[in-house]
Parts: sequence; C-alpha cells; structure tokens
Amino acid sequence: MQSIGVQVSGVETETAHPIVFRRRIRETQSVSMGSNISAATQPSIVWLRRDLRLQDNPAINAAAQRGGEIYLIYIDDVAETLRPMGGATLWWLDKSLRNISREIAAHGGRLILRRGSPLEILSEVIDATGANAVFWNRRYGAAERAIDAEIKQKLSDRKVAVESFNGSLLTEPWTQKTGSGSYYRVFTPYWKNVRANFTPAQALPTPKRLHDPQTVRSDDIDDWAWHPTKPDWSAGFSEMWTPGEAGAHKRLDEFIAHGLSGYSDDRNRPDLSHGTSGLSPHLAAGEISPAQIWRSVRGHIYTGNVNTDSAWTFLSEVVWRDFSYVLLFHNSDLATENYNAKFDAMPWRDDAPDLTAWQKGQTGYPIVDAGMRQLWHTGWMHNRVRMIVASFLTKHLLIPWQSGEAWFWDTLVDADPASNSASWQWTAGSGADAAPYFRVFNPITQGEKFDATGDYVRTWCPELSSLPRKHLYAPWEASAETLRQAGIELGTDYPKPIVEHKQGRERALDAYNSMKEKREFA
Ligand code: FAD
Repeated sequence: MQSIGVQVSGVETETAHPIVFRRRIRETQSVSMGSNISAATQPSIVWLRRDLRLQDNPAINAAAQRGGEIYLIYIDDVAETLRPMGGATLWWLDKSLRNISREIAAHGGRLILRRGSPLEILSEVIDATGANAVFWNRRYGAAERAIDAEIKQKLSDRKVAVESFNGSLLTEPWTQKTGSGSYYRVFTPYWKNVRANFTPAQALPTPKRLHDPQTVRSDDIDDWAWHPTKPDWSAGFSEMWTPGEAGAHKRLDEFIAHGLSGYSDDRNRPDLSHGTSGLSPHLAAGEISPAQIWRSVRGHIYTGNVNTDSAWTFLSEVVWRDFSYVLLFHNSDLATENYNAKFDAMPWRDDAPDLTAWQKGQTGYPIVDAGMRQLWHTGWMHNRVRMIVASFLTKHLLIPWQSGEAWFWDTLVDADPASNSASWQWTAGSGADAAPYFRVFNPITQGEKFDATGDYVRTWCPELSSLPRKHLYAPWEASAETLRQAGIELGTDYPKPIVEHKQGRERALDAYNSMKEKREFA
C-alpha cells in the first residue's frame, strides 16, 4: 500500500443514527477520532486543498482538538508534475476561496493564500509562527501523493508533526477489497459492499475559533486572476451556481425537498431542473463532504419521508464517485492511458474541424449541441447528455476520448480527476466495467426519449425552438415547408449533421472490429 496518511486500523465509528449502529464498518482510516498527535499549546497549520469547508473537516477538527492557535493556508501549487486546473475550475475556486476566507474571518482567523512550492511555504510559515503540527486531508492522484509524502517526510525530519485524513470520500480506495483481496473493478459488487457495510463517522463540528498568523503575508486573490476577464465568458456560471459551503448545503436541502423522491425516474431527464442534485462542483471543491450527504439522505430514508428506492439510487451515484477514485488510485494514468490496453490499437481519427464543431455545439445533432452549449454556458452538463456527447465524440466522430476528457477538464466546474477520466473511459469502452464500444448511443432517439418535453433542446438551441417536437432531434428530416415555418434554413441558421448517423455508427463499428482483429493477429 502507498505511504500516505497515518493509518489507524480497526476504528469503530459512532453515529447519531440508531438504525445504522448495527451496520458499522471497520474503516482503516482516522476519520472520526481526531488527531493522533498529542495536545499542545503551540500553533497548528491546516493546509486546505479541495476541502474548502469548515464543517465536517477532519483536518481542521484535528487542529481544534489539539489545542493551540489554528492557521489555515491554501497554496496554489504550480509544480510541473501537477495537471494545471481548467478555466472553469479556477472560476469556481476563486469564488470558493473568497467565501471560505470570509467564514474564516468570521471565526477570528485569516486564510493565507500563497503560490509556489508547498514545502517551502509551509516551512516558512512554521518558522514564522512556531507551529509544530500540520494537518491536511488526503489526495489520491499519484503526483499529489508523491508531493504530500515528500512534505510529510521533510517536515517530520524537522520534528514537525504531520497528520492526514480522509476528508473527501466515503471510503478510501484501499479499504474495499474483493473476496480475492484485489481492488474492485466492477461497480455493482463494490456498491453492494459499501451499501451493506458503510457507516460514516460522526459529523465533525465547525471550529469555535480560528487565528490570524499576523507575521505571515498572504497573496491577494485578485492578483491570481482566476476570474476570467479577457473575455469574461463566465456570466452564465453565476446564474446557476453559488460556490461555497452555504451554497452547497442549500443545494442539498433543495434537492432533498424537491428532487430526491423522484430521482430514480427523473435523473435521466435533462429538461427538468431538479432531476439531479447539481452537487458535483460543490463536492469537487470539498465544500460539502460525501459523508454529510450520506448522513442527511440516510436520515431521510430512516424517517421514511422520502422514496426509499430513489434515495438509495442517489446514494449509489455518490458511490460511483468513490469507485472512480478506486480506479484512479490503482491506475495513476487513468486520464491519459486506456485502462483496457486493447484500445491502444484503435484507429482513432485526428480531425480538428470535427472536434471544434463538437466543442462549439455545432454538430447538427440538437441533443449533442444542446449539451455542449450548456457546458460552455454554465460549466456543467447533465449526466445523460454527458454520455450522449461522449459517445458521439468517440463513436460517430471516432475522435479519441482523451480529447473529450481534456475539453471537459477545462470547461466543467465539477472537473474531477477521477470521475472525469473514469467516465470518459466508461463511455468510450476502454474503461473498467465500461459500456461496450459497440453500444453506440443514437443521438436522435436519446433526445426523443430523455428530453421528454423538448425544453432542453429549445433552451440551448433556441434557433430550433419553433420546430415541432417530432423534428426537434433530427431537423434535417423535417420538410422544407416545416423548416420554413419554423424560420430555419439548415446550413445557415443551424448546421447540417457533420456525419450521417448510420455512416458514423458503421465507421465506429468497423474501427472497433479492425482493432479486435489487430489484437487477435498481433
Ligand atoms: P447527481 O445525479 O445528483 O449525483 C450525485 C453525485 O454523485 C454527483 O454530484 C457526483 O459527485 C456523483 N456522481 C453521479 N454520477 C456519477 C458518475 N457517473 N461518476 C462519478 N460520480 C458520479 N462527474 C464529476 O463530478 N466530475 C467530472 O469531471 C465528470 N466528468 C464526466 C464525464 C463524462 C463523459 C460522464 C459521462 C460523466 C462525468 N461525470 C463527472 C459524472 C456525472 O456526469 C456527474 O457527476 C453528474 O452529472 C453531476 O451532476 P449532479 O451533481 O447533479 O449528479
């Protein structure tokens, strides 16, 4: 196992919830117990990363339990080994950091913002303040783990206590094992195991008081220029999102009130506003923990005031996120290399104009274009439509999934190193437990079926809004008269399809078969 974090094995966790007392799991992690570092009066540093919340934050809680002043720092680490964050993620973090800075100030503290090498900056803060303990919540990518392990070693060498925690997953990637002792490669048994055995640790309180290390300077977040200005493409983002801890909890509460009971039926409906929770960017920034979501939803299941099947289906989706981290943890190059190496022989196309048409929502397939425009405008896309556009890129256009993954990485406010790569590989067929490549989503029938009212396409492709619904997903099949009445000239007001559906499908299947043959004769 990798050398990350302090392992406390066999921790039995408590919960306020009576029914789940019977279903406690032995988690090999120090979620609930606070710090192993003995109490002290010297200051502690909490290094915030993608855990931008004060509630239920194990690293902050450990510092609070230890006693002494608590200094919080966020470091923009620009190490070459780290993947640069995308533009939409930077937009979100800009707001989220401003938000948590205000919360920290309201608790008497000051968030230190710095850019550079975390080891150098943490060392400088330790020297300036006399802090002798550093706490953080763990990360799971290989490059991040390498950085954290080195810092832990170097700080320990100078007798600074360092402790790390699970602050962002229900269970960490090395804790769930199959009967044969390996990690899970298939979701359903993974989910069954978690559902049967997992109980989150007790919720951790918000720290009563935080502190201001007055001798330590902070950058001004305005100077980081994470909010786009030239041009400012983010207007649609702020219409949809309220980054920050309060925004996350508001969204969870609203979803429980209006969406949770209908989730099983509505989660595939991009035309509905409460079909899914919209919690993904809050989870990605760590403004809410999956354990908080689990406790809350589980509580509603227990009291019987939500549809139980829907609530469990929703929790299973939250567990997909954990499962993606299992895959990332055990396959560090998940964002670039085919999980299934057979796909190395796939004859992908390198077609820049087709890729651009896809990115801009100009493919001529309304459900695809609606999704890509929703993404550009709001930084988010509905899951069903993500699957449709990903299938279209990797099958109809035969463009490698890595090109789509990279575009999503830059444009999604919820861009997540595990979920993005695992989901792209799942859709492309190259992933673990993936949809088979030969399952090619039909972008016409998918639109007809899931955009049940037509509102989704009409919102994001307004030039088609006067088309009768029966032509909304294949406008080229409408008669000249229908198009004229709807005010559409195909090729002028809205593009003609960049690939014919049947031909695209056949080309994809031929490519797949040729890949299989190459492998068989290799
Ligand atoms: P809900 O349906 O309300 O689900 C609740 C939570 O469960 C989500 O917030 C998310 O954390 C998790 N979840 C749901 N579905 C999945 C899934 N299939 N895989 C992993 N976790 C899931 N999700 C990301 O968070 N970041 C990404 O970068 C990302 N890239 C994707 C790329 C592709 C090609 C596809 C097909 C899916 C991707 N997903 C990604 C998964 C999924 O689309 C989003 O998590 C979901 O749409 C977020 O909306 P929501 O919060 O309303 O989800």
